[in-house]
Amino acid sequence: MSPSPNIHACPECGAAYTATDDDCAARFDLLLALDHSHREPWGSRHGQAFAAYALQHPVKHAASLDRAWLALHQIYVSGTAPDRVFGALVAARGKAPPGWDVPARAARPVHAPAVTIADLGDFEAATYPGRLDDWCRAALAAWMP
Ligand SMILES: [Zn+2]
Repeated sequence: MSPSPNIHACPECGAAYTATDDDCAARFDLLLALDHSHREPWGSRHGQAFAAYALQHPVKHAASLDRAWLALHQIYVSGTAPDRVFGALVAARGKAPPGWDVPARAARPVHAPAVTIADLGDFEAATYPGRLDDWCRAALAAWMP
């Protein structure tokens, strides 16, 4: 007789985990270590990864929501290259830079995200860029007004 699985869900993004020491924060810590190694494909994508995580964990990252929304909208809806987006946000001190046409986000997520950090598995290099894009698009979609 095997023990029943002890599934616990993230209260913010809804990702489900079975191991007691596994959760979104633990996964994000692993991803941050890859980001901060400055190796590719992780290092150059840190801004997108942080923005997706913040939008899916708005209680913990309330202060970062506007900047995360601006960045991902400008990248995935307006089609601006990520390095230009994050450079412009630094120059504009986190406000919408001149010429950006980004609508106000919803006051709170309008639905649970279709992709969470749990769906990125172990952040394997070969699949990470595509999975990160899926995660970012899902994070953005959940906040669409
Ligand atoms: Zn979560």
